[in-house]
Amino acid sequence: MKTGYLGLGSNIGNREANLREALERLESDGIRVVRRSSLYETEPRDLRDQPWFLNAVVEVETDLFPLQLLAHIQNVERAMGRRRMTPKGPRNIDIDILFYGRSVINAADLEVPHPRIAQRRFVLEPFSEIAPEFRHPLSGKTAREMLAALEPQGIRRLNITV
Ligand code: ADP
Ligand code: MG
Repeated sequence: MKTGYLGLGSNIGNREANLREALERLESDGIRVVRRSSLYETEPRDLRDQPWFLNAVVEVETDLFPLQLLAHIQNVERAMGRRRMTPKGPRNIDIDILFYGRSVINAADLEVPHPRIAQRRFVLEPFSEIAPEFRHPLSGKTAREMLAALEPQGIRRLNITV
């Protein structure tokens, strides 16, 4: 069993319902959601002219190998009708693997830890809520330390968990 962290985001349609549906679909043979952050409403980053996102981070326990986990989350995205339109553009659901235990993976279609964690408040705020002392396997920094070093980003914690 490995402990992993997944980042979820949605900025189209009923965002809260999309995140909940994704979690229901994620839980299946070989993967269990064990902790969930609050929901965070966040300002879009790279492509700014799009609706605000709803983001959350969950901790999972899984016996799937990393590429199996990636295939599984992509199946969930596909089942929810995700089409890849503009890169970094609006999406009804996005699921990223943030960490897979302390593994470092550099495969063609999978990079873990996710390469942009340290720049993303929309990841680090919810992540710090559920795993503040988790250390990034490459930088050695805890979630809390990475968060403290970040630029501001419009973000609002909602008083509900995903
Ligand atoms: P993004 O999340 O960057 O906006 P996508 O969700 O469309 O974009 O993902 C693009 C590709 O990123 C996927 O096809 C997947 O193979 C690759 N990828 C690389 N590392 C990861 C990771 N840690 N988690 C999820 N996808 C990843
Ligand atoms: Mg993605």
